[in-house]
Amino acid sequence: MSECEVCGNSYEHAFQVRMNGQDHTFDCFECAVHKLAPSCSRCGCRIMGHGVQQNQTIYCGAHCARQAGAAGLADHV
Ligand SMILES: [Zn+2]
Ligand SMILES: [Zn+2]
Repeated sequence: MSECEVCGNSYEHAFQVRMNGQDHTFDCFECAVHKLAPSCSRCGCRIMGHGVQQNQTIYCGAHCARQAGAAGLADHV
């Protein structure tokens, strides 16, 4: 039994995610996303896909990057 580090639920099918050398334990993907997924610096939505990044700033897509004034970014297709 492992305990989810986000909601504290003990669940026999909890899983571990290793990120940047640290192990995290979650009971569901929703908790993992809540904890680990970056959020778009313009609209604040969780980035589940690649997103686009300029310098240290990450956006959910080229649309948000453009709206935020970052030029020359295109979506991954
Ligand atoms: Zn959880
Ligand atoms: Zn966005």
